[in-house]
Amino acid sequence: MGERSQSDTESLTGNDSSLKGSVDISVVIPVYNEVQILDELYARLSKVVAGLGKKCEILFIDDGSDDGSFERLKVLRAGDPSIRILRFTRNFGQQAAVLAGFRHCRGEIIVQLDSDLQNPPEEIPKLLNAMTDTIDLVVTIPRKRKDTWTRVAGSRLLQCIAQRMLGPSCKLNLSSFRALRPSVVDKIDQCKDKSQFMAVLMSWMGVPTAEVEVEHSAREKGVTKYGLSQLIRLTWDIVTGYSNFPLRLVTYMGLLGAGTGFGLMVFLIFQRVVRGILVDGMVLLSAAFAFLAGIQLLSMGLLGEYLGRVHLRVQDRPDYIVDKVIE
Ligand code: UDP
Ligand code: MG
Repeated sequence: MGERSQSDTESLTGNDSSLKGSVDISVVIPVYNEVQILDELYARLSKVVAGLGKKCEILFIDDGSDDGSFERLKVLRAGDPSIRILRFTRNFGQQAAVLAGFRHCRGEIIVQLDSDLQNPPEEIPKLLNAMTDTIDLVVTIPRKRKDTWTRVAGSRLLQCIAQRMLGPSCKLNLSSFRALRPSVVDKIDQCKDKSQFMAVLMSWMGVPTAEVEVEHSAREKGVTKYGLSQLIRLTWDIVTGYSNFPLRLVTYMGLLGAGTGFGLMVFLIFQRVVRGILVDGMVLLSAAFAFLAGIQLLSMGLLGEYLGRVHLRVQDRPDYIVDKVIE
């Protein structure tokens, strides 16, 4: 079993591209603190993979787990040479883990699967069947989502906002269970997208896509890594990453503020000159001032968001850093 430190041999996130296409199917699985479920996942997945009758690899990306997941994966690897493991130096997030998996895997077809068994591995053949010659991406629609209502509501809101940002020409699918060809990964890499929400990026690219309906299971062990704050962060990331709408909103608010100020001025002059009334403007002025100051602060905040994105882009740090590769 070869365990090596990635930074000794290759660039921080790079990969040995000479082995691309050396297996038929790669199953890419991000893992973050899922030790309780890994054995069951492997038991079910290996049965499905064996039934495919193709040359397969299972690539686990350990996204900086600290619950012993990495050690468990190494034990599984010892009994099955088709398993490969990437370990990040720390937790970089699911999207980064999936991206790393896409870059490092060697299959002609890539299947992305969550490690918590919410995406049943038994549905993989359905995805592969839908991957015809003319299709590059197969996305899934859960027949009935088995998540808590708060998680489902959060996802619906995210879906609704992101779909609005992308516009009607993109059909957004946020499921994390999909199959794709390596050509799609090449396109992802060309996007150099710092927001890199894989599902949104792939929907945005509009490659030939098929949809299949799959079962969805409740998470039986461990907890979801997406609480309210993560969902809000993700939504905001998509809003600023895929549209200029917030900036346009600022323009509209500026127009509204200026219009209100102008109207108020005309009103005050009218009162003074035509009706001879001197309005006690203090209250009115305070309100107008608060309104305009609010708009200005909001505008600065939004501009800062976009500036922050440019800042990250200029720094051009990698999305993740690989600590170890086991293969
Ligand atoms: N995950 C990860 N890094 C993270 C958070 C999650 O690799 O920082 C993995 C996690 O182990 C699981 C998948 O991403 O395999 C989906 O996570 P989760 O089940 O918590 O999300 P949900 O099903 O609630 O969308
Ligand atoms: Mg889950």
